[in-house]
Amino acid sequence: MELRDYQQTAIEQLRAALLEGSRRPVIQAPTGAGKTVIAAAIVNMARQKDKRVLFCVPALSLIDQTVERFRANSIFDIAVMQGQHELTDYRQPVQVCSVQTLARRKIPQADLVIVDECHVMFKLYDTWMADPAWKDVPFVGLTATPWAKGMGAPGRWDKLIIGTTTEELIERKHLSDFKCYAPAHPDLSGVKTVMGDYEVKGLGAAMDKGHLVADIVSTWLERGENRPTICFAVNRVHAKHIQTQFKEAGVAAEYMDAFTDLDERADIVGRFGKGEARVICNVGVLTTGFDADVRCIILARPTKSEILYTQMIGRGLRTAEGKDNCLILDHSDTTLRLGFVTDIIKTELDSGVAKRAAAERPTPKPKECTQCHFLKPPKAVKCPACGFQPTPTSKVESENGELYELGRGKVIKASAPNPLDQQRWYSELLRYADLRGYKSGWASYAFKDKFGGFPERFMLPIQSHMVSPEVASWIKSRNIRQAKSKMKHGRGV
Ligand SMILES: [Zn+2]
Repeated sequence: MELRDYQQTAIEQLRAALLEGSRRPVIQAPTGAGKTVIAAAIVNMARQKDKRVLFCVPALSLIDQTVERFRANSIFDIAVMQGQHELTDYRQPVQVCSVQTLARRKIPQADLVIVDECHVMFKLYDTWMADPAWKDVPFVGLTATPWAKGMGAPGRWDKLIIGTTTEELIERKHLSDFKCYAPAHPDLSGVKTVMGDYEVKGLGAAMDKGHLVADIVSTWLERGENRPTICFAVNRVHAKHIQTQFKEAGVAAEYMDAFTDLDERADIVGRFGKGEARVICNVGVLTTGFDADVRCIILARPTKSEILYTQMIGRGLRTAEGKDNCLILDHSDTTLRLGFVTDIIKTELDSGVAKRAAAERPTPKPKECTQCHFLKPPKAVKCPACGFQPTPTSKVESENGELYELGRGKVIKASAPNPLDQQRWYSELLRYADLRGYKSGWASYAFKDKFGGFPERFMLPIQSHMVSPEVASWIKSRNIRQAKSKMKHGRGV
C-alpha cells in the first residue's frame, strides 16, 4: 500500500506519541487527506502484530462504506457490530462498530480502539475511556475538525497530531482551490446563540425571506456558470423555498434532507452526476460522505461552528478533471465571520476551560471587495477578481487651510478579457437575439453590460450555433436585474 508522504508522517508522529506515553492521541486529517487510508494503515500495522482492533463510527451510514474501503486496503479479517448486520462475527480481529450498538452491548476485548469522526462526542466514550481496564489500551481519534469544545479535557483526548492542512493539500493539488463571494448580508441581530451556534428556529425566520431567497437564485444565475452546486439551507421550509425559486427560474433543482429515503437519495445523486440536476438544496445531509463532483457551494445556512462550516466547504474541494476551483457563494456572512477554511488553524485541543484572549491566535478575516463582493485574502489590498483597489481616504490640508478629501478609490482593470472568449459571448448573444426575434443591437447592449464596452470593430457579427448554459444563465440574471430595477422605478407591469 502506497502512502503519501504526509500520511506516512502522520503515522510516524502517532508512533512517537504512543512511545512517549500518549494513550489518547487524535490525528487531524482534512477531508481529502485520505483519512480512511491512514486508518487502514494503522489497522494493518496492528494486525501484523496480531492485535485486535475496534473501529468505531458515529453513524450507520458509515459502516458499510468503512468495510468496503478497508477491504480495498487489504483488510479482510473484518466483521461488523451493528444491530443484526449480516457481517456479525465476533471471532474476527477487526470489528467495525456503531457507537449506538456498542453502548448497548458488552464491549469485546481489544488492543487498539480507533474512533472515527472523534469530534462527535458520545457519553459512551467518556465512560469507556475512563474505565481502568482500558487505561493502557490506545484510543486513536480521527477527524478533519478536532475543534469540539472540551475534546481535550482531562480524561478525554490528550494529544493533537496534525497530519496535513487544507492549505497544503490545495497547494499540492490534492484538493481544489476555491474563490468566494459574499453577495448578501443577512440581518442576524435578533437570532439567539444556543450551545455555541445560532438557534435554528430564529435563524430560519431571519434567512427565509423573499428577497434573500431571490438573491440566492439571481446570484447563482449571474455568477454560478451553471456549475454543479449544492446549497446548504437552514431548515426544510427554507430549503424547499430555495428549490422552488430555482425551478421557477428554469434550473433543475433537487431537494434532500435527513428524511429523504436512501433510494431517492441515490436517484438524486445519480441525476446530479449526469448533469440532469444542477442544484441540490439540502438541510444538513450533505456535510459528510457525499463524493459527487461539486463545483459551487451556496452557503445559506449561517453558522458560528467552525466544524459545520468546514464540513460544508469540504463538499466542494474534491479535485476533478477540468475543475480549476470551487466557487463559494456565501449568503450567510460565515466567511467574514470565521475566515477562510484554510486559515482556521488550531495547534491544541480545546480543554473546555476558557483561555486568556491572548492564548489563542484569532483566525485572520477576509475583506469584501466593495465593487464585486469578492472576498479578498486578509492581507490583500487590490481585489484579485475585479482589480478594484480602494484608496485609503485621508484628509489633506491645502495651502490656504481648507480640508479636502483624497481618493475615493478607482477601478484598475484586471487582466484584459480574452478576445476569443468575447467573440464567443458576442456570437452566442447574437444567436440568442435571433432565436428570440430581438434586434441585433440587443446583443451589443448585452455585451456592453457584460464586458463594460461595445463589441470591438474587429469582432465578427456571426451567430454561434448554440447558446451555452453559461451565457443563458447570465442573460436570465440580467433579465431579473432589469425587471427588478423597473419595478423599483415604478415602470413595472
Ligand atoms: Zn472586486
